[in-house]
Amino acid sequence: MEHDARPDLDHACRTHDAPMGGIRTDGGAIARRQLTERGLSDGEIRALIRGGRLSLLRRGWYQTPGADPEVVAALRAGGVLSCVSALGRHGIWVPPGYTDSHIRASEHGRRVSGPRFCSPYGDLPAPVRAVDPILPALACAARCLPGDEFVAVCDSVLNTRPHWELADLEPTVAGAPARVRSLLDRVDGRADSGTESLTRVRLRAKRVKLRIQVTIPDVGRVDVLIGRSLIVECDSRRHHLGDGYQRDRDRDRAARLRGYHPIRLTWADVMYRWDVVEKEILALMRRGLHRTTTLDDF
Ligand SMILES: [Zn+2]
Repeated sequence: MEHDARPDLDHACRTHDAPMGGIRTDGGAIARRQLTERGLSDGEIRALIRGGRLSLLRRGWYQTPGADPEVVAALRAGGVLSCVSALGRHGIWVPPGYTDSHIRASEHGRRVSGPRFCSPYGDLPAPVRAVDPILPALACAARCLPGDEFVAVCDSVLNTRPHWELADLEPTVAGAPARVRSLLDRVDGRADSGTESLTRVRLRAKRVKLRIQVTIPDVGRVDVLIGRSLIVECDSRRHHLGDGYQRDRDRDRAARLRGYHPIRLTWADVMYRWDVVEKEILALMRRGLHRTTTLDDF
């Protein structure tokens, strides 16, 4: 780097997959090590501080003006933003209700009282970025989330990163008990919403035989097909407004014409009323609605 070159400190970057145009920060925070690895000398770092473009946040970590307060708070607390807090920033689906920051302690980080630190299974490398990459964040989530939600998050990782395979996620649970490691057997990157993932995992836990993403003539791809004929469609939070509302009704009628029984779950049904919904689905199955004849006879 030329002595007077001004590095591009871009804190608009929300994910680590963004191209490395200049020096990328995570929410406006960056480790000293990242700066030196990009070729900045001590003098250049001091010049950035004098120019007001960087300030020392804690030993080994800097922030840019306007840095994300949640990222800064995690670093000040002695860790980095991780787990569900980091996964959401990487565009991964995370369940609702995790409003507190999830923080992974740095090796030499000073732990202050207040925030709760995640406790991933096994030993992870010390954090090197202010927002943990997906794999260490997932390792924290394996401990913090109930099993069904962890599977749904893993589904979303594979769904949003099509070049990743299930084996890529294995290190995240390597140090976990067998009960947690076996959750990976239930991961399916075809699921295209968190609600669909949770529905699949919870029904299978009740030994319901189902398939996902089944294509039915005149209807299209349905989220979940139980047995031969009971369709469960799961709305995501953003889904099914505007045009989708009419399209969904058209699909439901087309499915009935072919002999199926479609039911539709809202986001709130899956998140907050699952006990009721599950009882209803099991009641429909006792009445044999998953075994009726259809034009397709799967
Ligand atoms: Zn956590």
